[in-house]
Formats: sequence, C-alpha cells, structure tokens
Amino acid sequence: MKKNIKIAVDGYSSCGKSTLAKQLAAHYNFLFIDTGAMYRAVTLYALDSGIINEKDEINEEKLQNEIQNIKISFQRIDNKNHTFLNGKDVEEKIRQIRISKRVSKISAIGFVREKLVDFQRKISENASVVMDGRDIGTVVFPNAEVKFFVTASPQVRAERRFKELSEKGENVDFQEIKQSIINRDKLDTTREISPLKKADNAIEIDNSEMTIDGQFNFAVKIIDKVLSEN
Ligand code: C5P
Repeated sequence: MKKNIKIAVDGYSSCGKSTLAKQLAAHYNFLFIDTGAMYRAVTLYALDSGIINEKDEINEEKLQNEIQNIKISFQRIDNKNHTFLNGKDVEEKIRQIRISKRVSKISAIGFVREKLVDFQRKISENASVVMDGRDIGTVVFPNAEVKFFVTASPQVRAERRFKELSEKGENVDFQEIKQSIINRDKLDTTREISPLKKADNAIEIDNSEMTIDGQFNFAVKIIDKVLSEN
C-alpha cells in the first residue's frame, strides 16, 4: 500500500461527516482530523477576546494581529477527540450553538483559512489521514486518493443535531438549529474563498435515508478498492 493516503470527507453542516470520518479513521488506523473544530476554536477565541462584538461585528485587524497567538491542538481522552485552544480543553464549548452561529463568518476570512490550511497540511505530513471539512477535496488535498461529499436534507440534519445537543443537556430550540444550518449552508457555499462545493471526482453520499452502518459499509467498499490499486 502507498504510504500516505489522504481521504477527504467534505459536505454540508451536521450531515454526519465526522461520524463517517471517525469510523473510517478507526477502521484503517489513520489519523482523524476535524478541520471544523479548528474554525470553531478560532471563533471561540474571537468571542472570548472581544474580536466579535455584541453586534456580531468582527474586528479583522485585531484578529490578524493576534492570529499567531492562537494555538490549536488535539488529544485523545477516553477514546474521544478533544480540541485544545491555547492549552485549554474547549471541546464542549466549541460545539455550542453560539459558536455554530458565528463560525461561518470567521471561516470566510482569507488569512484565517490560510493559517488553518497550512496547519492541516502540516499535521498530515508523513501520515495517512481521514480529514473532515468543506474544502479538503478541493483545496487542502486536491490529490486525495478518495474524496467523499456527504449530504442530507436540512430537515434531517436539524433533527439529528437537535437530538445530539438535547442529549448533552443543552437547552436548544429546533427552529433555531434548523435556521442556523440553512444559514451556514448559504454562507459556506457562497463565500468567495474556497466555497463548499463537491470536487469533480468526489463520490456523493446522500445519507438522508441511510443508516450510519450503511454509510460506513458503502465508503469502506470504495476505499478498499482504491487501496488495493495503490
Ligand atoms: O464541520 P463543522 O460544522 O464543525 O464546521 C464548522 C464551520 O467551519 C463550517 O460551517 C464552515 O464555515 C467552517 N469550515 C470551513 N472549512 C472547513 C471546515 C469547516 O470553512 N474545512
């Protein structure tokens, strides 16, 4: 087998990309990299340091001046991936709706993307990875050996996210979640830099009607075939 295999898992918000990416990484013993967590961590930093004000305006100059102070890392704790921002475990915080609502504005900023794309490539050097994001197959690894583009209807995605957050004990409103997903889709697909779009050679998986296992088995068949050819 070729040494460093890159598997890109791109797609819309809350459509099960990271569930699939984590399963694949565990199955093949590849590194799992959640790039959304990186954009979320930058958003948390911006909120905590007043870079995003109460009117939700972003002070881009301040962010640019401070971006080199933002250090993101990952650790496995109790078999779960935890995101660290400047040494602090922020895994719970970055999943909150206050971050989800604002992250697409932060991820549309060119210098933020540049820094994070560099970081994504660096931590994948000399490793086989499954990377979950929006621009992995189009920008980060245009030569990835396998590219998936995952979709599901906004209603199904909102139902799944609502269940997930409710189970965590967050007090959430279904309509707010659905609206946030629709808004993020719009911002992510229409932004100027690296918009979310299916790479020409990506394999689309619409999992609205699929089980988690069904999706996994479908992906494994495709990857096994590619790996046998490499
Ligand atoms: O995947 P997740 O929902 O955690 O991503 C949060 C947000 O981060 C996305 O809505 C998008 O705005 C941004 N993102 C991105 N490029 C990536 C991953 C995430 O722009 N590769």
